[in-house]
Amino acid sequence: MAETGVKHAYLFDYGLMQAEWGWFLPDPATNGQRDKPRRWVEFPMAGALIEHEDGWIMIDSGPSPDAARVWPKESFEAFPVVRFTQDNVSVNQLKQLNLKPEDIRAIIFTHLHLDHAGQAYMYRDSAYLIAHRLELQHALTQIWEGKYGAYVPSDFEPLKGARWVLVDEERLEILPGIEVIHTGGHTPGHMVVKVEAPNGDTWYFMGDFFHMPEEFETESKGWLLYNGDQFESFTRKMKFWTSSKRVHMFMTHDPTNWQKYPRIPRPLF
Ligand SMILES: [Zn+2]
Repeated sequence: MAETGVKHAYLFDYGLMQAEWGWFLPDPATNGQRDKPRRWVEFPMAGALIEHEDGWIMIDSGPSPDAARVWPKESFEAFPVVRFTQDNVSVNQLKQLNLKPEDIRAIIFTHLHLDHAGQAYMYRDSAYLIAHRLELQHALTQIWEGKYGAYVPSDFEPLKGARWVLVDEERLEILPGIEVIHTGGHTPGHMVVKVEAPNGDTWYFMGDFFHMPEEFETESKGWLLYNGDQFESFTRKMKFWTSSKRVHMFMTHDPTNWQKYPRIPRPLF
């Protein structure tokens, strides 16, 4: 197999969140059962760190450590962070690998929602910040229009003037063996990250394209769906690619598989 320079991948543990199930999957039972209690789920917030011979690349930066104070009240009520300690701050997890924030060459944002962009300010002076141009445009437009429920103004203020690398392409190589693919679906500029592991396997870091494995299984998404055509189109491609035994998906918020994965400092691969 070709040598790409990818050495390892690690997973960040950014704490636990809760939300109503309808965000993830439509629940038609509620149509006929109006008194049925709403189902809530608890799930992880996560990110990844790719060790490459040309530098360390983060995928998503987790929520602000101060979410209860800086998130809009409505956002925190809909998506309460129920566990977050100093151990969930990315900088402290990097210490377990003897890394400092300045060691991070770039952060790839699958998208810029509040649980993905909230710690980027810790890296703003040294890392390149890689997002799809449509995503930053959408986030800033939402904020200017006062519709910033999932995009938090205080996440973006410190990032003004940072070293943004905005992706215009449908696919772009970040480093050999690390590629972003524009998917849309969940947000206009949502991307997934395709990483070629040294053993020849392929890992797709899915961001929030699928929040829960059930969305992939049923090819359906709840209130967090932004564009149904994009969701259907890319879902079927993922079904095809993952029908190979050597292709794997990592979903940021998957509560079931999260229990099985190793976390920093132990590598995913
Ligand atoms: Zn998320």
